[in-house]
Amino acid sequence: MNTKPNILLIYTGGTIGMIKDFDSGALIAFNFDELLLKIPELKQLDCEIETVSFETPIDSSDMDVERWKELGDIINNNYYDYGGFVVLHGSDTMSYTASAISFMFENLTKPIIFTGSQLPIGDLRTDAKENLITAVQIAALRKKGRPIITEVGLYFEYKLLRANRTTKINAEHFEAFQSMNYPALVESGVHLKINTSFLRVVNRRKKMVYHTHFDNSIIVVKMFPGINENILQNIFSSEAVKGIIIETYGAGNTTTQKWFIDIVSAAIKRGVPLVNVTQCAGGSVEMGKYDTSVALKRVGVISGKDITTEAALAKLMYLLGENLPLKVLKTIYETSLRGEMSEN
Ligand code: ASP
Repeated sequence: MNTKPNILLIYTGGTIGMIKDFDSGALIAFNFDELLLKIPELKQLDCEIETVSFETPIDSSDMDVERWKELGDIINNNYYDYGGFVVLHGSDTMSYTASAISFMFENLTKPIIFTGSQLPIGDLRTDAKENLITAVQIAALRKKGRPIITEVGLYFEYKLLRANRTTKINAEHFEAFQSMNYPALVESGVHLKINTSFLRVVNRRKKMVYHTHFDNSIIVVKMFPGINENILQNIFSSEAVKGIIIETYGAGNTTTQKWFIDIVSAAIKRGVPLVNVTQCAGGSVEMGKYDTSVALKRVGVISGKDITTEAALAKLMYLLGENLPLKVLKTIYETSLRGEMSEN
């Protein structure tokens, strides 16, 4: 009996899938059907690998809700046939897609590992090979025949991070992603060091539930000193806007000027959830800690706690898609659903 885990490698696009044409010197799309020929090292891994590609691979800047669903559908349609999934994705919006996928799959019992690279797979100095090989190896990790990773991860430059905790922080360095508020799940050195206590614990008796209703009628507003009242008024009162994320200062602070609080309060009164996330790379929103956030708490702003903006917007689209009353949405939003925020 073949007990090797089988991994489905899904190519969505991005730099990782490019290879240099040695005659012309140009970067061309890599034929993933020939993956095992091009990277024979993959054969040494203790797993079977099959590949599937987006019909039209894209630069991740072109990702949208439809494409998130296209990816989710590939995973969902193959969920019970594979032991794990590795998603090759452009790094630019990888944290957004991976966060969205984490909300799509409730009660996940298998690994979905995102990876990509800063240099194309055909480049001499590429980071693609290590990222790809180790991502597959991590997806294939087993204990007593069961997957060790049972969540959506992002592997880049020797670290597996919880995907919905990540942000792309560097456009040039191989170490392109960071998870400021949650430690690495796996570190790759001479051995793979698994930080077991940080892994998500699953309840295997619960059935996986696939969610696809994402409502993208939302906007992210970054606060800055001197922000214009009229512009904000227009955005916050727009009928098209069903949810708002405000990126605030420090521990969740904004201007205390009355016009601002009135605009915020009016939006919430017309049923629009308003989520407070911090502009800081690390740390958490604590509404009420400073005078400058007391009013936000009072009028019913939702605390995003230490969530990233990427995960915050995916979570808001997901919960808006569930059509919940505002009060219920607020309570659920402030609860960690997939390990995307700390509990307190
Ligand atoms: N622009 C590319 C993308 O995100 C960069 C990369 O692949 O890393 O698709």
